[in-house]
Amino acid sequence: MRYCESLLDLIGNTPLVRLRSVTSGLAPTVLAKVEYFNPGGSVKDRIAVRMIDAAEQSGELKPGGTIVEPTSGNTGIGLALVAQQRGYHCIFVCPDKVSGDKINTLRAYGAEVVVCPTAVAPEDPRSYYSVSDRLARETPGGWKPDQYANVNNPRSHYETTGPELWEQTDGRITHFVAGVGTGGTISGTGRYLKEHGPVRVIGADPEGSVYSGGTGRPYLVEGVGEDFWPATYDREICDEIVAVSDADSFAMTRRLAREEGLLVGGSCGMAVVAALRVAERAGPDDVIVVLLPDGGRGYLSKIFSDAWMADYGFLRGSAETTVLDVLR
Ligand code: PMP
Repeated sequence: MRYCESLLDLIGNTPLVRLRSVTSGLAPTVLAKVEYFNPGGSVKDRIAVRMIDAAEQSGELKPGGTIVEPTSGNTGIGLALVAQQRGYHCIFVCPDKVSGDKINTLRAYGAEVVVCPTAVAPEDPRSYYSVSDRLARETPGGWKPDQYANVNNPRSHYETTGPELWEQTDGRITHFVAGVGTGGTISGTGRYLKEHGPVRVIGADPEGSVYSGGTGRPYLVEGVGEDFWPATYDREICDEIVAVSDADSFAMTRRLAREEGLLVGGSCGMAVVAALRVAERAGPDDVIVVLLPDGGRGYLSKIFSDAWMADYGFLRGSAETTVLDVLR
């Protein structure tokens, strides 16, 4: 019989898939690391298991304890999966811009979810950072993984994502492109790759976020960009940061579904736009890997809804014509 003893055995070892359509006319090989193949559906399963393992070893997380974390959804799903298998409770604190689909998903896994306003400063007592701090303090047996400061976040990528990419490309990877949220993915993976070869590391960032020189002005892409500098982001790691607009990110996200069969989230479209900008300047022997953090099911009522896209003006002037455009 061939089976996994636990769903946790399926975390990592995700495939690399060549992008064939959105790359037309470009010389380099562009490969996508498709993280929705993780059992919780995103790259965040990797950090969840690593952070919990370390907290069990250090004694910070005790049997029957409660995990409290501010998360936009994916980290929550990863933590909820591991928590279930090991008998912990979960309370997640989300900003209110997160889709209802994502919140319902966390609740489906058995977690408790608290929703907080997005449009307040991180130090405001109503912010999702402040609320999660308070809940972690006040809940008996509470432990906050703090993905924004936990070294095991970038470490998980140093130990898994980096080595996987090096092996999967036979050491031929020349560029690594990833969106930056906590910075864990790009810092851990980037460090491993740079230790093994002359790999250029490119961060993709929503226009307005601090990583690309913005002030923290709001944008709609979820899971990436910040209005502060988290400890998990290694400021030395990126050779370049590419800022991408919401409009370009969402248009590419829709093309990935229609042309590549990849139903993925908005930060994936954003990262692919950055990867293609890099590819325009790269040569035929270059191998560009772009990491796609999650799947698209959580965004059906947003990016993949023509009405939502039209409401925000993202369909106007694009090649996509919808019934709504015709009626206007
Ligand atoms: N995309 C999505 C959808 C995410 O949830 C995250 C995590 N916040 C990222 C990208 C960025 O990954 P990281 O936190 O490792 O920088």
